[in-house]
Amino acid sequence: MSLLVVGSVALDTVETPFGKAEDALGGSATFFAAAASLLHPVQLVGVVGDDYPTDALGFLAERGVDLAGLETAPGESFRWSGVYSYDLNSRETLETRLGVFADFRPKIPEQFRDAEWVFLGNIDPELQIGVLDQVREPRFVACDTMNLWIEIKRSRLLDLLRRVDLLMVNDAEARQLSGEHNLSKAAAFIMERGPRYLVIKKGEHGAILFTPHSVFFAPGYPLEVVFDPTGAGDAFAGGFMAHLAQSGRMEDADFRRAVVYGSVLGSFAVERFSIERFRDLTADEIEERTRQFRDMTMFELGVDAGV
Ligand code: AMP
Repeated sequence: MSLLVVGSVALDTVETPFGKAEDALGGSATFFAAAASLLHPVQLVGVVGDDYPTDALGFLAERGVDLAGLETAPGESFRWSGVYSYDLNSRETLETRLGVFADFRPKIPEQFRDAEWVFLGNIDPELQIGVLDQVREPRFVACDTMNLWIEIKRSRLLDLLRRVDLLMVNDAEARQLSGEHNLSKAAAFIMERGPRYLVIKKGEHGAILFTPHSVFFAPGYPLEVVFDPTGAGDAFAGGFMAHLAQSGRMEDADFRRAVVYGSVLGSFAVERFSIERFRDLTADEIEERTRQFRDMTMFELGVDAGV
């Protein structure tokens, strides 16, 4: 039940109202792998420059992240920097320095090509398609994207959508892609173009899952400490995909639980800078928060219920 992620491996400089982290471990593949590997082994494909502190990823390797697909190329690593507003709901990108990422052409190692569960992190849709051309018969492919690609690579993105099972985007991206303000209409637009499943993330307000049969909603976990929202979406994807890979099934109930695991892992990601929270996070803590999610959202029907 192998789980493959392809995405950015970055150095992030992030400023929040609570402090600043410089050149911290980041990138979509890094956040995904840090979260997912708490539930299931991960195969990672990405690129870093020769300035990357690759040893710092050692703890991921120790817990089942296979870094055989992490290429080191001569030059500077991908760097991203951003600053968050006081309420942490909006962020401004201050700088994106592509470095070796500019020439990144993902090469999937032979031993990863039979991956059954594939997550295409947010990179150029052209490259995401290139990955799909290299994997043999994945059972389930999910992908992420962003405003930039919707704007400048729309046609390739639509080509990609025809080949994936699930798209995972935030509400603004769903609206931009579909041209629909209403999220149900946006979902219908997207699902007519390929993916049978769609997750629309709404930051701290939760996430909506659309399947061919139903709609499911999970709230955001009501955290008291939100330190750095960077990577929450990728950690969500990690929890979501790792749960599916772990269950090995694709029933509605599996997808619903996957959304909750996504929300749980996303909620842990924001409690500290970078991937720090995932260093010592335990399976028990994950299960405990998952149970709290169930308790928070369960109710009984009828005026006399539970009396
Ligand atoms: P998220 O907060 O889930 O949007 O993910 C933030 C992560 O995405 C950061 O760790 C960045 O390094 C990475 N990132 C930001 N911009 C890009 C980009 N254009 N391509 C790939 N990764 C990016």
